[in-house]
Amino acid sequence: MLKNKIALVTGSTSGIGLGLARAFAAAGADVMLHGLGDPAAIECLRTELAHATGVRVGFYAADLSRPAEAATLVAATEAEFGRVDILVNNAGIQHVAPVDEFPVASWQAIQDIVLNSAFHAIRAALPGMKRRDQGRIINVASAHGLVASPFKSAYVAAKHGLIGLTKTVALEVAETGLTCNAICPGYVLTPLVENQIAAQAIAHGLPRERVIREIILAAQPTKRFVTVEEIAALAVFLCGDTARSITGAALPIDGGWTAR
Ligand code: NAD
Repeated sequence: MLKNKIALVTGSTSGIGLGLARAFAAAGADVMLHGLGDPAAIECLRTELAHATGVRVGFYAADLSRPAEAATLVAATEAEFGRVDILVNNAGIQHVAPVDEFPVASWQAIQDIVLNSAFHAIRAALPGMKRRDQGRIINVASAHGLVASPFKSAYVAAKHGLIGLTKTVALEVAETGLTCNAICPGYVLTPLVENQIAAQAIAHGLPRERVIREIILAAQPTKRFVTVEEIAALAVFLCGDTARSITGAALPIDGGWTAR
């Protein structure tokens, strides 16, 4: 379905991004992996994915806490594969604290990694996409791009901003063959959430299972985690021709969280 497409997925060494990269590769796209991690483990992942799917798989390690590096990442993908057809801005981090105690450096890091790097990546990828009159941009936002929770001011602000950026880009390219959408997952069991479970277990003196049921999934009516595979299937669909009229959307995949 995505044969001969080139997909760049930021933050694809782990969690949701890795699931998206696997799904794009399985659908026939060449994939540029990106993210932080142990270089040997990432090289294993890169070769494993290439062997399993038969597509070309690259890796580039830009640190998006310096958000302008996102443009370098796009340029590196164009240099290795010739172009970027699918850009997924997925890299993200979390920090939880009351707003009046929020570390300024953590606020800045979240804005840079979640929002500012997406701006730089889109800015760099758009000229080529416009020239070819085709492209798909997907921003992995969050249910927290649509509603707030206490103690997540930086994350909620950045994800709301990312949805605003999504809508603006979609309007600017509406008469072309490009689309730009945001996917808004509820809780997915990835390292990012495992860290929150561990912190809450210590803070409340509760076992892991009770933290998951009573705290983490309290807002998610289905009371189960969204899976990486469910998000990946939505992303692959958005990259197909039949999704060309879906643009500027912020699509919840959140077990009913934002229906409340
Ligand atoms: P994860 O921690 O498993 O993966 C995060 C990825 O981002 C990794 O590849 C990591 O290397 C990369 N990254 C982090 N800091 C970076 C930096 N400075 N420079 C470059 N890369 C960096 O987390 P995840 O849960 O898979 O999250 C992926 C995205 O999905 C994030 O944007 C997150 O906000 C969003 N999201 C996650 C959930 C969830 O419940 N897990 C829910 C909604 C939205």
